[in-house]
Amino acid sequence: MIDNLLTIKEVSEILRVSVRTLERWDDAGKLPAIKTVGGHRRFKQEDIDTFLGNESDKPEKTIYKHFNGLDSVSKRLNAYIITKDSVQFAFEQETGPKQEVKHLVGVDTGINALASLSDGQQLGVDVKECIERTKRCQWGSKGHGRAQRALKQRIDETAKGLVNQPYELVVVEKLGGLNKLSKVTRRVTGNIRRSLGSWNYRYWLDRVQQQCEWNRISFRTVNPAYTSQKCSSCGHTQKSNRHGENFKCQVCGLAGNADINAALNILGRFLSGTYGSRYKSLCLGETDLAGSACLDVGFV
Ligand SMILES: [Zn+2]
Repeated sequence: MIDNLLTIKEVSEILRVSVRTLERWDDAGKLPAIKTVGGHRRFKQEDIDTFLGNESDKPEKTIYKHFNGLDSVSKRLNAYIITKDSVQFAFEQETGPKQEVKHLVGVDTGINALASLSDGQQLGVDVKECIERTKRCQWGSKGHGRAQRALKQRIDETAKGLVNQPYELVVVEKLGGLNKLSKVTRRVTGNIRRSLGSWNYRYWLDRVQQQCEWNRISFRTVNPAYTSQKCSSCGHTQKSNRHGENFKCQVCGLAGNADINAALNILGRFLSGTYGSRYKSLCLGETDLAGSACLDVGFV
């Protein structure tokens, strides 16, 4: 793929690292570049994909959560939070071994649907309405509090709805950089900030992780860089592939829902990495395992 070479500046924006770091990685062989005749470094799209895939999460260990009323089943930790009307204690709870993974799903987070799944389903389609309601109310007013609670409840319900799907492994985008207001980060997460709001975004992903934990479902995250611009069939990455809610690949012509395409890319990225590669066979050539959409993932 000679036509899909990226400059060092572009790669630094995608991976959110400095140009200097990339030069170091190239010299160390961690992320090799190609040198042009003029001596400039260029990166292959596939190498970036592989690199991002390898960055996927390791299997998780115990997670700590703040929750009331777990005395009988778990061990209390030395942490607590005092709020205006309650005191929360932290507990560590053994949830038992994870279920054997037979079906995997990639999940994209968005405003049109809170969760778009790589099998083509969309959950929490009314979240936009909830968010707009909170925005209409003045911050701190009674109406705002009510709207916030309704939104939280909607997010909780959607997270529960997600773990009720027949999947033993859920891949979502990695949270991060939301607090760091670097120039690059602000641009990359700009869409999320404008639409869902970083607080809601964090709350949602935390809730999914917690639900997965309680239901013994494996939870993994991947770097979400350009998952919305990449074609899930041929891998071509271009900004103009996406037009709002619609995706149309400028090379192979694949067209469809942009969020579902992103979910396919999230799953594909996990499968192309070190920790995900052993599940690859589950998603190739087995229509009844992870749903038909899984077959279209272009990560061969
Ligand atoms: Zn394509």
